[in-house]
Amino acid sequence: MNLARFPRIRLGHLPTPLEPMEQLSRHLGGPRLWIKRDDCTGLSTGGNKTRKLEYLCADAQAQGADILITQGATQSNHARQTAAAAAKLGLDCLILLEDRTGSTDPAYTQSGNVLMDRLHGAQVARRPGGADMQAEMEAVAADLRAKGRKPYVIPGGGSNPVGALGYVNAALELVAQAAEMGLRIDHLVHATGSAGTQAGLVAGLVALNSGIPVLGIGVRAPKPKQEANVLALAERTAAHLGLPGLIKAEHVVANCDYVGQGYGIPTEGMVEAVKLVAQKEGILLDPVYSGKGMAGLIDLIQRGHFAKDQNIVFLHTGGQAGLFGYPEAFGLPGDVAA
Ligand SMILES: *Cc1c(COP(=O)(O)O)cnc(C)c1O
Repeated sequence: MNLARFPRIRLGHLPTPLEPMEQLSRHLGGPRLWIKRDDCTGLSTGGNKTRKLEYLCADAQAQGADILITQGATQSNHARQTAAAAAKLGLDCLILLEDRTGSTDPAYTQSGNVLMDRLHGAQVARRPGGADMQAEMEAVAADLRAKGRKPYVIPGGGSNPVGALGYVNAALELVAQAAEMGLRIDHLVHATGSAGTQAGLVAGLVALNSGIPVLGIGVRAPKPKQEANVLALAERTAAHLGLPGLIKAEHVVANCDYVGQGYGIPTEGMVEAVKLVAQKEGILLDPVYSGKGMAGLIDLIQRGHFAKDQNIVFLHTGGQAGLFGYPEAFGLPGDVAA
């Protein structure tokens, strides 16, 4: 595998730190928990989409694009990082936001990531929940082409074989970092949505023969659909790397028991996990992805899914800006009379 042959533009602060979570590990009574800080990738408060955009934006530039088009849910972290990347590269950016939750709270519809999309100079347009967002983007791109523009369409979450290369790169980074620290990683756990993160990690970790299993905690689709999406993209990513046939179904595992009522809708477990990690580690998770991912990890630990002497790495995929879209979700106390 030779990643260097794929064009890449540096956008992130890499490598991201790999740190122990000592207080949380002690609180839960083991296993040994570690955190890979992809919330610290640097671009516009960071997150996992930055790694994908390093390869996607290089491809866009190679094609002579002058505007990036992408889509996501209202509080899309992917849209925010794409808007920032476009700004940095001198490209225009058009974002289609899908109303997946039905929330009318102005904090949700206008603050958090939406505020940041606009600060980066992106144009924001809305679509109703359930719209065919890929078709909507293609229609907008066709209009722009007719006007002489050169749009580059990035799929939701940046999840295609080009974007997933960012997480093949993350797999290389993690394995090298663990070797340097003398850390034996027994499991890698993270929130999975549009599938590019897990697909890239699986392709990279299997190509390296690392023996590190990946567990995706789903935030939207049921398990059969999520695993099929990840497997299909991992296979295409491996083929793009010149390694067709590398990925087997057994390499892809998702647990989708922690979605709750639906994508972007808070759960009790998410609220508890976000508060616990904030208060034991001083680390902010997000309400849509990493909070539900951590809720799943904590529940699996409490059910004895991992041995006490194992090293579990949680990949923090970012998304803290989304907290400001959910000010009421956490039931936080008011001021004290001090
Ligand atoms: C997009 C996102 C994910 C999921 O990554 P996919 O590659 O879409 O599966 C996880 N966490 C955060 C914070 C995200 O923004």
